[in-house]
Amino acid sequence: MRIDHLIAGKPVAGREYFETVNPATQEVLAEVAAGGEAEVNQAVAAAKEAFPKWSSLAAPERAKLVRKLGELIAQNVPELAQTETDDTGQVIAQTGRQLVPRAADNFSYFAEMCVRVDGHTYPTPTHLNYTLFHPVGVCALISPWNVPFMTATWKVAPCLAFGNTAVLKMSELSPMTAARLGALALEAGIPPGVLNIVHGFGKQAGEPLVRHPDVRAISFTGSTATGNRIVREAGLKKFSMELGGKSPFVIFEDADFERALDAAVFMIFSNNGERCTAGSRILVQKSIYAKFAERFAARAKKIAVGDPLDEKTIIGPMISQGHLAKVRGYIEAGTKEGATLLCGGLDVPPLPGRVEKGNYVVPTVFADVDNRMRIAQDEIFGPVACLIPFDGEEDAIRIANDIPYGLSSYVFTENVGRAHRVAAAIEAGMCFVNSQNVRDLRQPFGGTKASGTGREGGTWSYEVFLEPKNIAVSL
Ligand code: NAD
Repeated sequence: MRIDHLIAGKPVAGREYFETVNPATQEVLAEVAAGGEAEVNQAVAAAKEAFPKWSSLAAPERAKLVRKLGELIAQNVPELAQTETDDTGQVIAQTGRQLVPRAADNFSYFAEMCVRVDGHTYPTPTHLNYTLFHPVGVCALISPWNVPFMTATWKVAPCLAFGNTAVLKMSELSPMTAARLGALALEAGIPPGVLNIVHGFGKQAGEPLVRHPDVRAISFTGSTATGNRIVREAGLKKFSMELGGKSPFVIFEDADFERALDAAVFMIFSNNGERCTAGSRILVQKSIYAKFAERFAARAKKIAVGDPLDEKTIIGPMISQGHLAKVRGYIEAGTKEGATLLCGGLDVPPLPGRVEKGNYVVPTVFADVDNRMRIAQDEIFGPVACLIPFDGEEDAIRIANDIPYGLSSYVFTENVGRAHRVAAAIEAGMCFVNSQNVRDLRQPFGGTKASGTGREGGTWSYEVFLEPKNIAVSL
């Protein structure tokens, strides 16, 4: 199979191709066009040309086409989910039941929302001020490899619905479902040039895209290191930067123990642990720490690791051999730093037939972790949990905030006042109280500190995809 760029509604061959590989089997899934500055220039020109007509379509007309794209995704869930699972190793139970259906929801949600964009009025005795929201123009949308289809559609849906045109660049490690998205967009009747896709590597394809002077806004999801590089390279543009995380999951002694345990297991081991909002630093009050550590490790040992196409599998392979080596490196570092390995580690039991060569790591739990250790400070982005004991509320807040990141956070306590105090004190863009991460499309999604700037979701997506203009009329 060959995957080409999509520019102005047409497949455009690459001057070079690279392989995308199934991380469970090492089988080559497709040859993918490797774009560079020439293809980026072509795609941005196509998006620029399509912009005047698309942005001046009445919102209900745009909404119809955007909604249709969501319906086509919903009709193709099994195929898209399998493609995503093959390309990324994310397990089919997640891609089929959650991630691809949510991608469809992104389009229906923003189709409905774009017809409701309204303004504000600020009347004074001498002037009537009112605001208009204009689409910004050509947007660069850049996606990482974890949950790539959901993330890409989370950007494409508001971008297009609000009247912008786009150049989408997927991660070189997970380009397959985006290729289908391009085809489905055309099938839905979205005009050529409104959604363009350039495949390829960060340096060769991503950098010319973010630098391009006709790109007005950048919605980026990826690592903090790349986010920093993009901000330096891009110059003055609108940014939404959804970056890395190392989120604290704080459990007080008065928490509903079983509920906290379930949520803690889910927040570090679902999505293979390759999750930006993972609760990867589990802070447990000392009085319940030993009991929690024992029960948590017992649960981790029972997690099904295996073929991501098997509905029962919870943990599939890591995205690439490079990433597997990184995760294993942290497991080694944790042991060297003196943390106690409760389960998992570097030994992986033999896996059956089809997936025997997969990039596997087993659920790993480190106890007695000091928050200053590398395994506690760095984003591992795999199924590796760090259990950190704490004394009381003040200590919990201090440890939670002693980190460069600030994406998500979790607090478990039955004390209402404490729940609100700690939720307010943690430096993060999001805090879930007595809950795992549950997403509502209206919420502001995003982080603070090294986890990024800007928020997306609901009207928060205006920040990147719409430009407010104030008009003052003298009375
Ligand atoms: P990455 O930063 O390596 O790559 C992300 C994307 O940026 C890829 O498409 C890549 O090709 C591109 N890129 C790389 N260099 C570039 C450059 N110089 N200019 C332009 N584009 C460039 O990240 P990754 O390894 O693909 O993804 C994992 C990271 O993403 C983790 O840190 C994770 O926390 C983060 N993430 C954040 C969120 C969030 O919402 N905050 C969600 C998912 C993933």
